Amino acid sequence: MSVVTIFEKIAENAVRNNPVQDGDYMGSDGLIYCGKCHTPKQSWAPLPLSDKKWTAPVQCACRKAESKRLDELKEHEEAENRRRKCFVDDEMAEWCFANDDGRSDNHAMQVARNYVKNFEKMKMDGIGLFIYGDVGVGKSFMAGCIANALIDIGVNTQMTDFTAIVDDLWENDDRNAYRRKLNDVALLVIDDLGRENDSKHIRGIVASVLDARCRSKRPLILTSNFSPKYLLEAEDTALRRIYSRIFKLCIPVEFKGVDRRQIQMAQNAKKYHDILGL
Ligand SMILES: [Zn+2]
Repeated sequence: MSVVTIFEKIAENAVRNNPVQDGDYMGSDGLIYCGKCHTPKQSWAPLPLSDKKWTAPVQCACRKAESKRLDELKEHEEAENRRRKCFVDDEMAEWCFANDDGRSDNHAMQVARNYVKNFEKMKMDGIGLFIYGDVGVGKSFMAGCIANALIDIGVNTQMTDFTAIVDDLWENDDRNAYRRKLNDVALLVIDDLGRENDSKHIRGIVASVLDARCRSKRPLILTSNFSPKYLLEAEDTALRRIYSRIFKLCIPVEFKGVDRRQIQMAQNAKKYHDILGL
């Protein structure tokens, strides 16, 4: 079979796989048109190595719209899948820029938006953030917003904390695989650094997880109630050494504000004051 015949066969197959449906019709240009959207389902294309032309199948407007809808649906499902895997708590899926009521530290939130906008550069340089500030001001919310925004654009992200990491390591038969998973994600967010139980064993886990992540050269975002200054003065030598490496890779961002949990408590107390006879 000659090469030209092979191309002709391929062309015939392609046409056969693009069947004419009820309502389709032939236009004056010799191409089949879709009976629904009245746009062509074919286009004239040169047949390679010959002077012949063939009617190459193309998507009509309604088929294109359907493909786009299916692609978007697939993309959405994939993003939701990534989101489910990312968070330890379902509530965190709601921590996104769209749900920022503007009462947080607006400067810090702008830093978060800029981080997302420049993530490709941050990823290339292995640069993360160290978000610190008082209890309840919204540091975790800020980190969650970054994670959710990156998940939306297809970035594999994991947000966890050391309590969950220690539990997971305890439960996991293949600890190395679990550690690899923490290092392989494009962005790792570890919430509430320094809150974990202060035993030597836990400190060892914290140091090794942070050390491995630094070595992976992939970005890490940490939130903490403790300032960089406090952590850099840690008594544990191994931790102190890790923290000094971390602050070369995680840019400190202070998150200022009032304790929103206390405000919520005060609002509840006021709301139920009479009913409960407080
Ligand atoms: Zn159509």
